[in-house]
Amino acid sequence: MHKKQLMDEVTAAIQKCRKCPLHETRKNVVPGEGSLDSPVVFVGEAPGADEDVSGRPFVGRAGKLLDEILKAVSLSRSDIYITNIVKCRPPNNRDPIADEMNKCSAYLFSQLQIINPQVIVTLGRVPLIYLLDKKGLKITKMRGKKIEYKNGVDIFPMFHPSYLLRNQSKSKGSPKYLTWLDIKEVRRLYDESKKG
Ligand code: URA
Repeated sequence: MHKKQLMDEVTAAIQKCRKCPLHETRKNVVPGEGSLDSPVVFVGEAPGADEDVSGRPFVGRAGKLLDEILKAVSLSRSDIYITNIVKCRPPNNRDPIADEMNKCSAYLFSQLQIINPQVIVTLGRVPLIYLLDKKGLKITKMRGKKIEYKNGVDIFPMFHPSYLLRNQSKSKGSPKYLTWLDIKEVRRLYDESKKG
């Protein structure tokens, strides 16, 4: 079956989902968006208030910053795929809990299977710890290092854009400075897999 058809089926399943209590408080599900042929998939943690209203990932302040980060290396949302571990907004923007991630991640894994990227860029600590199943990982230590994940797919951890909004310095070694290095590496990996 065509990738688009397969993804539409996953999206339809997300829209009907009632596996965890987040369905009771959501306005909209936020399945994800972008290119189904992208070698790079960005994974955040969960939708916030703006995403809940629009049904689209990363459209609030953090999302606007993510757009700028992508633009700095001439990438746009339509070049890549963006989604989250959890597809419905946790109330009051709390971190998603284990039960929510365990129930929802089947959708992420289906999406990854359809897109079959070379690299998963995890944004922040939550998706990194969840996918690697290693509590206590420090994003400050892990960011910018490519990690072997599964079936030839790598994980490349980056800071979450919300963290960058709270840390505005651009001086050498700051989170924003390091993110600039990281997104350049993502661009390189993107180009490398497009060639290969
Ligand atoms: N933060 C996330 O992790 N995901 C979104 O979609 C928006 C904000």
